[in-house]
Amino acid sequence: ATPTALMVGTGRGAKMGILIKNGEVLEEVNDVKTVVFDKTGTITKGKPEVTDIVGAEDVLSIASAMEESSEHPLAQAILDKAKEKSVAKFDVTQFKAIEGKGVSAKVNGQTAFVGNDKLLNDVEIKPEMKDQMIQLQNEAKTVVFVGLDNQIIGLIAIQDAPKETSKEAIATLKARGLKTVMLTGDNERVAKAIADEVGIDSVIADVLPSDKADHVKALQENGKVAFVGDGINDAPALTMADVGIAMGSGTDIAIESGGIVLMKNDLRDVAKALELSRKTFNRIK
Ligand code: ADP
Ligand code: MG
Repeated sequence: ATPTALMVGTGRGAKMGILIKNGEVLEEVNDVKTVVFDKTGTITKGKPEVTDIVGAEDVLSIASAMEESSEHPLAQAILDKAKEKSVAKFDVTQFKAIEGKGVSAKVNGQTAFVGNDKLLNDVEIKPEMKDQMIQLQNEAKTVVFVGLDNQIIGLIAIQDAPKETSKEAIATLKARGLKTVMLTGDNERVAKAIADEVGIDSVIADVLPSDKADHVKALQENGKVAFVGDGINDAPALTMADVGIAMGSGTDIAIESGGIVLMKNDLRDVAKALELSRKTFNRIK
């Protein structure tokens, strides 16, 4: 394509809220075979809400005391619910965030944690609690355990609904012959339930933040990969991908790492970028 054609292409993108950093990025989009999506904040709204609380009375108050110091979207959901219910406040010391797993601290002097099963180590899950966990996860709800003194005292289920346009966006990409993949730190059952809702082909779940880029690399064996994400965690995967696509609502580091930024946070704009690339590079050859 001529420099003028490239300018026209990127200019058209900008008008639609699709910021394409340069002509090379626009060209790479044309060859993408697989589109990999982060889940939270990318496919879903990124506004999780607590839907179920199971277990002892203090579950929410203990969890929210710890989440006060966390910056994770799940923490916000727990804090919102605690505020709504005006739960008791507890003293928290020795707060620790454990990436991709949860948080731990001392609550009123007792060792406590909130997070997923990777955080449990030797702590045992009672059979009935495990059944409840599985049921909630099949309903596309993320389940976190709340523990005190090496015992699970309850569960909190959190739901983050898909964006209204995600399903249509995936269908369009698949109709054009692209493979779609979800890559997430969340549990496999939850991830599959959401992938089914929006029509994503394959799911890679339970991925630690530090491993996201490696999964992108492995997928590149089958051709060029676009990665779509929004978080701090996603920056290495955005950089590793042939085309990194960041949500405009994402963190600064995600936006800096992306070759394309979707200002409207609408996944339908992934297909629009593809179309723009095809038009730019097929017309003038
Ligand atoms: P994603 O890839 O969906 O953005 P993360 O890697 O940020 O996910 O987190 C993965 C999982 O780690 C969450 O689904 C949750 O189970 C657990 N987790 C992380 N941070 C917290 C927290 N502050 N409170 C509770 N659970 C957490
Ligand atoms: Mg995310």
